[in-house]
Amino acid sequence: METRQVIIIGSGPAAHTAAIYASRAGLKPLMIEGHEPGGQLTTTTDVENFPGFPDAVTGPELMDKMKNQSKRFGTEYLSTKVTSVDLSKRPFKITTEDGKNFTAATLIISTGASAKYLGLPNEKELIGKGVSGCATCDGFFYRNRIVHVVGGGDTALEEANFLTRFASKVYLIHRRDSFRASKPMQERTMNNPKIEVVWNTEVKEILFNETGVTGLKVFNNKLNEVTERATDGFFLGIGHEPNTKFLNGQLELDGEGYIKTFGKHPDTSVPGVFACGDVQDPYYRQAISAAGSGCMAAIRAERFLEEAGH
Ligand code: NAP
Repeated sequence: METRQVIIIGSGPAAHTAAIYASRAGLKPLMIEGHEPGGQLTTTTDVENFPGFPDAVTGPELMDKMKNQSKRFGTEYLSTKVTSVDLSKRPFKITTEDGKNFTAATLIISTGASAKYLGLPNEKELIGKGVSGCATCDGFFYRNRIVHVVGGGDTALEEANFLTRFASKVYLIHRRDSFRASKPMQERTMNNPKIEVVWNTEVKEILFNETGVTGLKVFNNKLNEVTERATDGFFLGIGHEPNTKFLNGQLELDGEGYIKTFGKHPDTSVPGVFACGDVQDPYYRQAISAAGSGCMAAIRAERFLEEAGH
């Protein structure tokens, strides 16, 4: 089996930026794209905060452009999913769902994180039509509209506060009668006149018509009462899940399951394995910060190979 110099797992902005750098450095990277080529951006509509696109670009178009750019320099792609890796020795072994094995001298992990969804009927189909897992990405489209956010942690409260820049009213729906978010975030939220908290309430159904989301059917678990609430947007703020299952505990993760990187570099706990993008970033989670970290991972992989005499 031919050992690749670099295998990149993932296909979002971090992965493609790593591929552009690695391919331009002559490392002939192989990208294993996973089941959602392009990652989270392919579920958004207009991206207005990625520099270089003054008139905005859609998420899918941006990812197409990134792929064309990484392809141009010789990146190869496999549209399959990695099911396991063996990081116990170099070269690393990568196994895909179709039973194929690959070996790599260095590995760049950019499998991203996924916003958690409630699992309601039509929830995923309505993404981009009123349902969103990212207030930073989509908040702008709700100027002077009414929105609801679900969750009681820092993510939900941060999203609710952010959305008040645009929305006329933000309702924060939480299933209990107290938040788990940090105290300062709670204070900011309670002091924001545009936010109203809807306590002890669970979202049971998303109401919609042909134009998108129109309301929510909710259940007040204290009053035992089902009601309907009109809304233009519904934002999920119940957390994110980094996609690290396939690592099976072989890399050090932080308390929330994100891959730990060390110092100012994308180096993980295993030398030769680098992590970039949302899978190692619970804080910024932006396409541009992911792309930047992808560049860093490729440069580190290149230098690692040089030092190892490859
Ligand atoms: P989190 O702290 O786990 O909070 C998730 C929230 O969603 C909880 O309030 C939870 O309700 C609710 N939730 C979960 N599943 C639900 C369901 N099925 N239905 C209804 N509600 C549900 O997650 P997070 O807010 O994403 O924060 C994760 C970590 O990142 C935390 O350590 C946080 O401090 C950090 N973070 C920090 C910042 C910041 O400092 N600016 C911003 C974002 C995140 P219950 O409370 O009832 O369990």
